[in-house]
Amino acid sequence: MLKRGGLLEPSNFTILYVFSFFFGSVIGSFLNVCIYRLPREESIVFPPSNCTSCNNPIRFYDNIPIISYLFLRGKCRSCGERISPVYLIVEVLSGLISALLVWRFGFSLTTLFYFAFLSALVVITFIDLEHMIIPNVITFPGIGVGIIYAVLKTDWNTAHLLFGSSRFNLESILRILNEVPIIDSIFGIILGGGVLFLIGFLYEVIRKREGMGMGDVKLLAMIGAFLGWKGVIFVTFISSLIGTVVGISIILYKRGDLKYAIPYGPFLSLAAALYCYTGGFSFRF
Ligand SMILES: [Zn+2]
Repeated sequence: MLKRGGLLEPSNFTILYVFSFFFGSVIGSFLNVCIYRLPREESIVFPPSNCTSCNNPIRFYDNIPIISYLFLRGKCRSCGERISPVYLIVEVLSGLISALLVWRFGFSLTTLFYFAFLSALVVITFIDLEHMIIPNVITFPGIGVGIIYAVLKTDWNTAHLLFGSSRFNLESILRILNEVPIIDSIFGIILGGGVLFLIGFLYEVIRKREGMGMGDVKLLAMIGAFLGWKGVIFVTFISSLIGTVVGISIILYKRGDLKYAIPYGPFLSLAAALYCYTGGFSFRF
């Protein structure tokens, strides 16, 4: 006999995803505060949310993610000034990120850490789009959180056995990278930091101007900390692919103005998000 209201009932699944989406969008409204305040070097905890135009505090009932924005039609209740649609976009995006992670990985360590990782990437993307910077206050702690995630994932018995029995040839090194997340993470940081640093350095030598900011280098190191060396290769390849397509489109649209600077952080972030959900090139056909 089927039990009613069991975990596999579709209705409970729906509630689960609605809850995950709502939780994500609440975090999204905090991410909006970070996006606005971090580049202006303001505190992200004090004062509480206020209108950036008239400085009036936002009432709790006007601070419900997505719903308040739609209800107020994107305008401040006090001064009527237009509120940037970025607020709405970030809240919806964070809700989707959260619900998709629960759908893909359930309630797990991976969901928790990927949500922290993807939230950081959302903040980085929107700050980079507006200010062309990637703040160290996100990437440096991000590298630390990525290492903690790798430590928690590592099976130390396996690690011990592999290190005890390995001769150092390519095969055993690849095996250690595959089966010991903490080694993979550290190698990812070095590879991520190194690869972009080298590309940026060569670009500067050849073109005699800075093409890649150090912020991108630290971002790819953070991506390496979370996703390991395979993630770095995937993200380097896919982000340059997306970046090239978008770059060419903008050049065509702007009729050949090559000097229009495009921030690279959003492409790295998008590629990293794709890796989180698909597992990169390793998914089976
Ligand atoms: Zn206002």
